[in-house]
Parts: sequence; C-alpha cells; structure tokens
Amino acid sequence: MNARALLIRGGEVWSPDHRGTLDVLTINDRIMALGDHLELPGWAPGEVLDARHQLVMPGLVDQHVHISGGGGEGGPQFRTPELQLTDLTRWGITTVVGLLGTDGTTRSVQELLAKARALAFDGLNTRIYTGAYEVPTRTITDSPRNDIILIGRIVGIGEIAISDHRGSHPSDRELAHLAGEARTGGLLAGKAGVLHLHVGSGARRLDPLLAVLDIADVPIGTMVPTHLNRTPELLRDAVRWGHRGGYLDITTSIAPDEHDRAAVSPVEAVKSLRQEGVVLDRISFSTDAGGSAPVFDSTGRLLHMGVGSAQSLFNSVCSLHEQLSLEWNEALKPATVTPARILKLGDVGRIEVGARADVVITDGREVRTVIAAGRVMVRDREPVVWGMFEKTEGQNR
Ligand code: ZN
Repeated sequence: MNARALLIRGGEVWSPDHRGTLDVLTINDRIMALGDHLELPGWAPGEVLDARHQLVMPGLVDQHVHISGGGGEGGPQFRTPELQLTDLTRWGITTVVGLLGTDGTTRSVQELLAKARALAFDGLNTRIYTGAYEVPTRTITDSPRNDIILIGRIVGIGEIAISDHRGSHPSDRELAHLAGEARTGGLLAGKAGVLHLHVGSGARRLDPLLAVLDIADVPIGTMVPTHLNRTPELLRDAVRWGHRGGYLDITTSIAPDEHDRAAVSPVEAVKSLRQEGVVLDRISFSTDAGGSAPVFDSTGRLLHMGVGSAQSLFNSVCSLHEQLSLEWNEALKPATVTPARILKLGDVGRIEVGARADVVITDGREVRTVIAAGRVMVRDREPVVWGMFEKTEGQNR
C-alpha cells in the first residue's frame, strides 16, 4: 500500500492554540509536520488543499452520540434510526463515543459495538460506553468493569440515568459501586474509565453524585454528568459540581424553543457557569445526536418525535466565539481538548505532529472541508465519502 499525503496550505491554524498561518502535512492517518512552505514528499502521492483565508481546526470530539439510534418513548414506532457516516462528518465530528439510552431492552451493547466498528471502517474514530439507563446495567460480558478491560472500544459506562423518571433510581451506594467499576476497569485497561451520567429533570438533580463523593473514594473526574443545561435549576446545581472540580457536560442539541421553554442554550450555559466561577477547562460539549427529542403538548400528549442533531456542536463553538467573544482557542476547548482529556484520548482534539489527521477547514461560520484520519470526507460542504448503505448514486466505493 502506498503512503497517502495531504498538504493543507496556508490556513490560520488553531490547534486549538493559535499557531498562525501554517501548512499542515498529513501522511496516512497522522499529522506529520506543521510549518511554512511545506511540500508533498516525493514518495507519497497526495493532494494539496488550499486553505488560505480559512481557519484550520481539529476535528471535533463528541462524547455522547446515539450512533445505533435511541428513543422509543411513545412506542416502537418512535425508535430513532441509526446515524449514517455523513450525519457526523458533515458537521466536523471525527471522534464519537456511542451509547445506549432509555431502551436497554430492544437495543444491546453488542449492536452498539458493531455500529461503532462500522463507522470506524468508514473513517471515524469511535469508542462506546457499555450500559444503558438502568442499574444493574446492560453489558457484553458479566460486568461493566470486565467490558472496559476486555473490549478495546469500550472506554466507560453510560449513559446511566439519575434524577429521571425513565431511570431505575439507583441508590447512592449502587452508583458508588458503578463508579468504582468504571474507575478500576479504566485503571486495569489503561483507559479513561468514565461513568457517564444522564441527568434528568428530577428533584434530586446532582445530589446522587455528591453523595457518591461522600461515601466513596472515587476521583470526581470519573463521573461525568451530562444534559446540565436542561433547566436553570439543574445548571445552578451544576455549579456546585464544578466548584468541587468535576467536569460539566452541556448538551448542544438542548436549546429553548416553543416546545421547551425551560432549556438553557449552550452558550448561555457556558456564560452563567463562568460567571459563577467554573473554569472553562471543566466544561465540555456533546450533541446527544441520534437521541430522541420528544415534543409534548400541554396535556403531555406526544406531538412530534425529533432527533438530536450533530450540527449543534460546531454551531455552539461558533456561538462561543461570536456571542461570548471567546477567541477560537477558548471556544474550541469544549469540543476538542476537554472531551479528549475526559476520555483520555491523547491523539485527538489537537492539531500537532503525531496526532490523528482529523481536521476541519472553516470560514468560522460553516464547516467547509473535513478530513478524518487523513482522508477528505467533506469537500466544500459536500460529503465525498459516504457510508456503505447511505447513498446508491455517486457512491465512491
Ligand atoms: Zn441522555
């Protein structure tokens, strides 16, 4: 097999640190060089991409995606479909963690693992959590800890539901046990060992996690609560978690609209967390893409079943830049280096030599070109690599 090269010429590189106007050379799936006036090596056939007057950023990292579908609240007709490759790539997402949600009965971790492998074949960087909402949770082996240790792609447990009527209402001690399983599994596997927690609109909010800190010796970074912008009350509670040094995950597909007036937009959530003294480095974004977004009328009748979109991740980064006047190095953190740190994925979320060649080229408003593992997936806003069954016409393989 020949080496394959890509030279991204003359863009303004945010790694996410500002590196100035630079060329980026990738060979196969890695970034090989950053510098001025780079050339394609003679021994590797390749392509030159003109990125002048564009921003060059790391591919985005999304730690909460229902890649094999989700939902089902309302009946089996509301099970949301599997995501396709370009549902993610066209919005600049190159690393995902797949997970199950409410339905751990008709959906399985096995199915999720197969879907993650399929997306990896297509060029995405994929991991999964073992589990679903309920405790005891769903696994492939006999325990979540064994799943983390024995199955390469499994980096933690999730999404376990707390403070939600759809969850199984685990006791604080059961949660502490799960956190221990994640922690020890991660240690023995050399992985993150995250316990990723869906937080609902229930009255206990983050109390169960604060209780775990009191009764167990689990490092706070093991537990990653998400959907914290669901309501202003939950967001206020999240400040306590942030002050203790915990990570706070904001769901970018949650935003106020005519159906959900309580939600806090991602940019407003970041703004108020920072005003309350939570440092930006503890705040991450994820999309909940592929998950169900049910719309109810005032009597609770289901009107419409929406699906979380992956577009919201890039848009939220842009909103931090535009509305909060954060420079790109800061605005990019919640979708690049911070989730990569949470997941202990050392080679993604950055543009640096040796990292995976995952790159987004953008004008700062729209994703224009997306490179995953050194391969152009989206070119001038049009996908050029499609999933196996995504497109029958013009398919490139
Ligand atoms: Zn959830």
